[in-house]
Amino acid sequence: MPLKALFAARPERWDAYKDPLAVAFDAAGLNVDLRLDHAPEEVDYIIYAPNSALQDFGPFTRAKLVQNLWAGVDSITGNTTLKIPLARMVDFGLRQGMVEWVTGHTLRHHLGMDAHIHNPDHLWQPAVPPLSRNRRVSVLGLGALGLACAEALAALGFDVAGWSRRPKTHDKITCFSGEDGLTQALAHGEICILLLPCTHATQNTLNAATLALMPQGSFVINPGRGALIDDDALLAALDTGQIAHATLDVFRIEPLPEAHPFWAHPRVTVTPHIASETRAQTCSEVVAENIRRCEAGEPLLHLVDRAAGY
Ligand code: NDP
Repeated sequence: MPLKALFAARPERWDAYKDPLAVAFDAAGLNVDLRLDHAPEEVDYIIYAPNSALQDFGPFTRAKLVQNLWAGVDSITGNTTLKIPLARMVDFGLRQGMVEWVTGHTLRHHLGMDAHIHNPDHLWQPAVPPLSRNRRVSVLGLGALGLACAEALAALGFDVAGWSRRPKTHDKITCFSGEDGLTQALAHGEICILLLPCTHATQNTLNAATLALMPQGSFVINPGRGALIDDDALLAALDTGQIAHATLDVFRIEPLPEAHPFWAHPRVTVTPHIASETRAQTCSEVVAENIRRCEAGEPLLHLVDRAAGY
């Protein structure tokens, strides 16, 4: 009897996913009947995206695992109908995409590229940027994505500090944790990158008080989640010059409403939640490996701690 797996993402994603998943199941030695619809009580595995129509897990009485296709789980951890293990996506494609996006936007601000890209008055004002080793960067969140970005920036020579919930050590990154650690991490970075999950503990991590701890004229880069930042406090900090520029990929409401002041602010760059995306080709192996593990009674990969919220 094949295992029954439900593909519970937006139906338009099916074409991109069905073949890579089938190949990965074969490679893992799994016999899986993967469909967009199965009788709920017959489903063994749910391959899930939080923006799918499926929000009530109650009828899936036989399911053993919800394998999220996204790294972020903030819109599912509070779902009280979900009683079975939830795994999130950690894979090469997500990580590499995020490293490229973060590195690009960090280099933009570090090198002061905007002054030359948009120079309508043809000003000739050579301002040579410091070398990366003289530029301090903070990465808030040292998980799968934050650590990869911090390591990539450290490899480029930046003086990188990171902040996490639990203490860490790293030979190339100055690591801070806990509440005092946030103060130190924010004071360190002239460029601050947010790669925290959105939980009760991380909402409004950047607010009026914490923005004031950053060096005058700092840059904020947020590919984490919109609710990590108090929007009004950020706008006020931009207006005083405490923050020189904010590059924002994620927002409290997406798409960002037309009337939101971020769109029109001259020192805000809005990108439409494209910092990194799960790619079917690279994530399918992770999905198959977790199903294989579950069938073999082995520990699952990337399980979400529902109490911690990530
Ligand atoms: P991880 O769960 O691997 O890492 C989360 C990091 O945040 C960990 O280092 C964790 O600390 C730290 N953290 C969590 N809570 C706190 C806290 N209260 N105080 C201090 N540090 C804390 O997540 P990922 O790196 O995989 O992803 C991060 C986020 O990136 C996702 O949750 C998602 O919101 C966002 N994302 C955005 C995308 C985009 O396109 N814009 C694409 C993919 C993800 P510890 O190490 O101690 O656990």
